[in-house]
Amino acid sequence: MAARRPLIAGNWKMYKTSAEAADFARRFVPLVSGVADRDIMIAPAFTALETVAGILKATNVALGAQNLFWESEGAFTAEISPKMLAAAGCRYVIIGHSERRQLFGETDDTVNRRVRAALPAGLIPVMCVGETEKERDAGQTLSVLDKQVRNGLKNLVANELGTLVIAYEPVWAIGTGKTATKEQAQAAHQFIRSLVSNLFPAELAVAMRILYGGSVKPENISELMAMDDIDGALVGGASLNPESFGKIVCY
Ligand code: PEP
Repeated sequence: MAARRPLIAGNWKMYKTSAEAADFARRFVPLVSGVADRDIMIAPAFTALETVAGILKATNVALGAQNLFWESEGAFTAEISPKMLAAAGCRYVIIGHSERRQLFGETDDTVNRRVRAALPAGLIPVMCVGETEKERDAGQTLSVLDKQVRNGLKNLVANELGTLVIAYEPVWAIGTGKTATKEQAQAAHQFIRSLVSNLFPAELAVAMRILYGGSVKPENISELMAMDDIDGALVGGASLNPESFGKIVCY
């Protein structure tokens, strides 16, 4: 087993008001307070960040956001800057989720801009990559991952790579109940790690955490985590309930 510290992250998407998020956080924290050997993160909607930050303070659960904009301030109506997220108590930020790519015009270039803006603000980017079903069926999985990872990390130098996390999320497995098999996930993770080791010093690739995302549940987390290059999970649906997310964290 690799010595990388696992990260189990919850992406709440556009669910939960501030009050609902606070209720989750109050119920969830005691369920995982004894967990010391892995990192835990939840990413509520922007409107709930500060409320949840207050509840997570001095706990072992970190706060993440679901997106950011790359400028630090200015006339960018409705956008949120890295500095604002850090000030709201965020440690992580999800970037380039497939829903952002498919529904909101996110491209490899905008993913790259966001990643490069997150790091200097002290935020840990969780950069999402993954192929669609059509791309997998056409045998393009590895070329899609190659392009997304290469472009997402473009112009980063080794000492900027820092704590960056990559999440492999096959689009066909997100919210569909279809999980990639552990072998399919491991093959994609191994490919991503070897690509990163071609782009950056190998020790950075060895230390980098690569999460799997796509219909992770309490029932399948253990077999995924047993694979050599799977260092954690990005969980959507099953992270919305404190008990089920607690079971995933405590796999
Ligand atoms: C996600 O949104 O990142 C995700 C993996 O969703 P789900 O767990 O619901 O498939």
